[in-house]
Amino acid sequence: QHAEAAAWQARLIAGARQLGLEMQPRQAEQCWLLAGLLRERNQHVNLTAVDTLDGILTVHMLDSLAIVPHLGAAHRVIDIGTGGGFPGLPLAIACPEREFLLIDGTQKKIRFVQEAIDALRLGNARAEAVRAEQLSLPSQTDVPRVEMARFDVAIVRAVGPLRSLVAVATKLLEPATGRILAMKGKRPDAELADLPRGWMAELVPLAVPDLAAERHLVILTRREPPQRVRR
Ligand code: SAM
Repeated sequence: QHAEAAAWQARLIAGARQLGLEMQPRQAEQCWLLAGLLRERNQHVNLTAVDTLDGILTVHMLDSLAIVPHLGAAHRVIDIGTGGGFPGLPLAIACPEREFLLIDGTQKKIRFVQEAIDALRLGNARAEAVRAEQLSLPSQTDVPRVEMARFDVAIVRAVGPLRSLVAVATKLLEPATGRILAMKGKRPDAELADLPRGWMAELVPLAVPDLAAERHLVILTRREPPQRVRR
C-alpha cells in the first residue's frame, strides 16, 4: 500500500511537471488522500464514474491541474458545479495563495467536498450547496464585504453550454476584468458560434499527461465596451 501511494504520488508530480507545475511532496500527498476519500465515499454517494486510482490521477487530478497556467493573476476563484470537487479541490491544493469557492446545487456532493476540505485542512477553500443563479453577491453600489467580493475567475468543468454559463457567471464576476475558464472535451464549435454579445473566446487545446482524450479550454473575456463617437 505504501509503495502504491509513493508510485501514484510520483506519477502525479511528474505529470504536473509536464504541465509546468512544481508540486511539493505535501501537495501530492494531499491529492492522494483526496483520491482515497473520493473512492471510499463514492461507494455510498454517486460522486464520480471514474474511481480507479489510475483514472482519478489523470481524469480528475491532472485534468484539473492543466488549467493552472491559465489562472493568471486571479486571486478569487469560483468553481461552478464542482460535483465531487473538480477542478476546485486539486486547484486549491496546488494554489494555496488563491482563494476558492466551490459550489454545487446538489447537497450530498457538497457534503463530500466540505468533508474533503476539512480532512485536507484546506484553509483557502470553501464549499456551498447552492445553484449559481441563487448565489447572492452585493450589487456594485453596496459597500462590498471582503468575503463577498466578486470573483476574478469562474472555472467550470462539464457544466452546461457556454451561453447559459455566461448568463449565470456574469453577476458573480468582476465587472470588467472577470474571466470564465470552461473546460471542454472536443472543440465546442456550436457553443462558440452561439456566444452572447459582449464576450469573446480564446480556444486553447490542452494536453493532459497520460490522457488520450481530447481536451480544450475556452477562455471567455469581455469585449471592450464600444467607444463613444465624438462629433
Ligand atoms: N465539475 C465536476 C466534474 O467535472 O467532475 C462535476 C460535473 S457534473 C457533470 C455537473 C455538476 O454541475 C452537477 O453536480 C450539478 O449539480 C452541477 N450544476 C449544474 N448546473 C449548476 C448551477 N447552475 N449551479 C450549481 N451547480 C450546478
